[in-house]
Amino acid sequence: MEFEWNKALLVFGFGMLFFGLRYVVMAGTAFLIFWKFLYNRLHHRWIQQDRVPEKKKILHEIKYSLLTMVIFGMVGIWIYFMKTQGWTQIYTDFHEYGWGYFLLSLVGIILLHDAYFYWTHRAMHHPKLFKHMHLTHHIPTNPSPWAAFAFHPYEAVVEAGIVPLAVLLFPLHTYTIVAFLFYMTFLNVLGHLGFEMFPKRFLDNVVLRYHNTTTHHNMHHRYFHCNYGLYFNWWDRWMGTNHVNYKERFDEVTNRDKEKQMQIG
Ligand SMILES: [Zn+2]
Ligand SMILES: [Zn+2]
Repeated sequence: MEFEWNKALLVFGFGMLFFGLRYVVMAGTAFLIFWKFLYNRLHHRWIQQDRVPEKKKILHEIKYSLLTMVIFGMVGIWIYFMKTQGWTQIYTDFHEYGWGYFLLSLVGIILLHDAYFYWTHRAMHHPKLFKHMHLTHHIPTNPSPWAAFAFHPYEAVVEAGIVPLAVLLFPLHTYTIVAFLFYMTFLNVLGHLGFEMFPKRFLDNVVLRYHNTTTHHNMHHRYFHCNYGLYFNWWDRWMGTNHVNYKERFDEVTNRDKEKQMQIG
């Protein structure tokens, strides 16, 4: 397979459009539902009760997220280049590995991304890297769903790196990659929702508590040096980087009395 620039540009354009639409539709839907229509009704689940929404920073979140889509499109070209060199293990025939492998590889890329995100995120919090790579994402201390991809271009390259890495390591069907990207975006938007929609006592369950909540990432934006994980809580537990009041804050948010809150409001 030869590398052709017209095909590369097509991949770039299609990649940008796909990532851009996915972002606008998913972040936009969450924003309209929670930040517009249900804001008053769900106010008891608004995590940072002492702060109002940072609407001034939404433009910053959207601007950098759209810039990230350009970087993601460029990484699409890089994956296409890798494919022409025979470096990737992307496959398109379902029967080659079957359904079992399809699901297993989906779990595999999610677990790989969880570790990749935790460690690259922690590295970007190093004082030498933070200002140049990760500060852009931390401008909102009470982010909206639009912040999901608000990265400095350097950070966007790191974030996009998971797909080229995964296709080097193990066979992935194109649909596995697409399913992964939707799951990742969904969890990412959820982490920046501002409202805690996970049920009461979620963190009391011995299994469920290993899944992160919106409070978890919301506290990361407020306090910076804690709660680095994306999907799961094990890396933060193993490395002792959960905020000491994480569970306490989650329980406080999910146990608020809705009626009482509405009377005060
Ligand atoms: Zn961070
Ligand atoms: Zn964030």
